[in-house]
Amino acid sequence: MDPCMKLSLDLPETSYVYDDTAATRSVSKPMAPTSIVAKVSPNGLIELSEHFYINHSKQNEPIRVEVQLKAEGIFLRRETGVPDEVCEQRIPLSDIIGSSCGPRMKKSHRGSLVSCRRIDEDTEVENGTRKDICAYLHIYAYIKSETSDKSSVRRERTVRILRFRSFDTYEENLKVAERWQHAIRINQSAVKNQLGEKQLLIFLNPKSGKGKGREMFHKQVAPLLKEAEMPYELHVTAHINYAREFVRKHNDLLRCYSGIVVASGDGLFFEVLNGIMEREDWRAITRGLPIGIIPCGSGNGLARSIAYLYKEPYEPKPILYATLTCVAGQRAPMDIVRIDSGKEGKSSEIYSFLSVGWGLIADIDIESERLRSIGATRFTFWSIRRLIGLRTYTGKLSYLRCEQKNERKTYGKLVSSTSNEEQRLPPEVQEFHDIPNPPRDERPDNSRPLADAEEDDEFADAISLDGASNQSYVDSWHSAVSKHTAYFSLAAQSLRSRRSVLSRLETINLEYENRRPPSTLPTLDQPVPTDTWHTEEGEYVMVHAAYTTHLSSDCFFAPQSLLNDGIIYLVIIRAGVSRSQLAQFLLGTSSGTHLPKEPNEYIEVVPVRAFRIEPCSDKEGIITVDGERVDYGPIQGEVLRGVINVMVPSPNCTN
Ligand code: ADP
Ligand code: MG
Repeated sequence: MDPCMKLSLDLPETSYVYDDTAATRSVSKPMAPTSIVAKVSPNGLIELSEHFYINHSKQNEPIRVEVQLKAEGIFLRRETGVPDEVCEQRIPLSDIIGSSCGPRMKKSHRGSLVSCRRIDEDTEVENGTRKDICAYLHIYAYIKSETSDKSSVRRERTVRILRFRSFDTYEENLKVAERWQHAIRINQSAVKNQLGEKQLLIFLNPKSGKGKGREMFHKQVAPLLKEAEMPYELHVTAHINYAREFVRKHNDLLRCYSGIVVASGDGLFFEVLNGIMEREDWRAITRGLPIGIIPCGSGNGLARSIAYLYKEPYEPKPILYATLTCVAGQRAPMDIVRIDSGKEGKSSEIYSFLSVGWGLIADIDIESERLRSIGATRFTFWSIRRLIGLRTYTGKLSYLRCEQKNERKTYGKLVSSTSNEEQRLPPEVQEFHDIPNPPRDERPDNSRPLADAEEDDEFADAISLDGASNQSYVDSWHSAVSKHTAYFSLAAQSLRSRRSVLSRLETINLEYENRRPPSTLPTLDQPVPTDTWHTEEGEYVMVHAAYTTHLSSDCFFAPQSLLNDGIIYLVIIRAGVSRSQLAQFLLGTSSGTHLPKEPNEYIEVVPVRAFRIEPCSDKEGIITVDGERVDYGPIQGEVLRGVINVMVPSPNCTN
C-alpha cells in the first residue's frame, strides 16, 4: 500500500487534481498553455503563475484555478462563478514539507480525485498500447490553523496535485512539472534551512512507551519522511546503551549525517546526549548535528516542551507533529546541565537536559515502571499511591541563585513580560557563543582580558560561580568556545616571538577542543562556597530541578522555562506540607498551576544556576536524572547554556 494512502486514512486530506490545460473541455487535443508566467526577483526567488482546471463531476464546465508561486507561498485562486469573486487559499512555503514529481502514483486517487473523462486526451498510443502522458506534481503541506474555538492550533495535511499535460509527450510535461518543483524548493530555501543531502540518523527504541515504537514509526513517521524526501538511516536499538555506544564510537558522524533523531521517550535522548558528550569532538558534534525527538515513549517531556515553546500543536498527534519538526530543518540552542554524582570516590559525570529529582516525583517516575503497559496513565496512578503513603527525606540542599544582573538580561525578559504569550516566543538564537575580542589596546588588564567582555555575556555569569578563584576556569571556558580567545590566555607572553606564541596557541586550542566542559563547581567532597551559595538542612518531600517546561507530556512543571535561558528551576517541597496541598500541587502540574503565587512555607521555586543535594545516608531513596535512576547519594548540577542544538519547528510565515 502506498504510504501516502496509509497516512490519508488517518488525517483529513484535501486532494484535488489540477489540470494545466482546459483539455477537459470537449476539445480533442490538449491546448498549449497560454498563461504560464515566470519571473525571477532580484533576490533569486521565482514567481510562477499558471491556470489549472478542476474537473468537477457535478458541473459540466471545469473550474478554473489560478496557481501562483510567490515568495510567501503558493496561492490558489478559484473562480466562484460570481463575477469578480474568487476563493483564495494560501499554502505558506514553511508548511510545505516536500513534493514528488512523476507519473500517476496510483490508478485512482481516493476521494476527490477527478480523472479525465475523456481518457484519450491523457494518453498517447505507443506500439499499440496507451501511455499516460501526464506528469504529476504532488505537493505535501501541513497547514497550521487555529481550532474553531481558537483555544489551540492544529496542522492539517493538504495535498495539492498539479497535473501537467499541455504537451504531447510525458517527457515534456515532466519538464514543466519539475520546473515548478524546482522553483518551490528555491523559494523554500529562503524561509527554511534545508537539512542538506546528508541523511538523518534515527534511533528507534522498540521497547519505549507501550512497546509499539516500531509500529508507530512505520505507520506515522516513515510516510512523512518519504513525503519530505528525507533520507535516513534507521537503527532499532538492540539493548540499553546501544544508541549511546553508537554515537560515542562512530568515527564520522558529521560527514555521514545531517542530524540525529530519537524516536523514543526521553531516556533514549539522554543516551544520545551522553554518548556525544563522551566524545573528544563533542563540541563539533553538538554544533554540527541538531538532535530531534519523536515522542514514542511514556515520558516525553522534551518533545512536549519544544511544541509548547514554539506554539506548535502536540495532541492529538504528537508523533506526526514532532516528525514535522524534525523535517523542518530548523535548530535552536538548548541548555544542558552537567551532573556530578556518586559517593565514596565513585564519582561520575553525566549530562542532563530535563531534570534531576529527589523524593516524590522521582519515586513516582521509577516505582511506576512496573505499570509500563498502561502508558502515561502510570504516573497518575502512582501519584495517588505515593500520596497515601507519603515519605519524607532528610538531607542538605545548597544552591546558587540566579543573580539579579542575569535576571535583567535573560530571566528578566520573562519577568518583565506581562503576557504569557510573550514568554512562549522562541528564544533568540543565543548560542553558547564566542566572546567578541576587544581591541588589544582597549583591554584594561592583559592578564584578565575578559573583564569587559563578561559584561555582555550571560554565560560568563553562569560559570563565575565562585568569584576570583574560578577566573581561570572562566578564561579556559571562553577560550574553549572561541575560535580565537585562547589568545587571551597568552597575553602575558606577548614579548615572545610570534611563532612561538602561535604554536602555543595551537596547542592550547587543540587541548581545549578536546576537553569536556570544565566544571566550575567544587567536587562533591568539598564544601560549596558560603558567600554566594545558599545552604539549608531539613526534611523534604521532594526537591526537583527542572530546565524544560514539561517533565512529561502532561506534566507542565516549569512554565517559565525556555530552551536556552541558563536557568534551572529548583522546586522544593518541605516536610509538613499537607496532603491536600500536595494533591493540589500534583493535580496542578498538568496545567502548570501548581507553583504558589505567594511565598509559601512549604512549597518554593527558586531559579538557580547550580545546586547540590546531599541526602542523609541513613535511608535509601531514589534520585533520577532525566527520569532515569542514578545511584542514591550526593548529586550536584550546573547549567551549561546553549551547548546542544535541538530540532525545532519552522518559523511561522506571516507575511
Ligand atoms: P520510555 O519513555 O517509555 O521510558 P525511553 O526512550 O525513555 O522510553 O526508554 C527507556 C529506556 O529504555 C532507556 O533507558 C533506554 O536506554 C532503554 N532502551 C533503549 N533501547 C532498548 C532496548 N532495545 N531494550 C530495552 N531497553 C532499551
Ligand atoms: Mg531552560
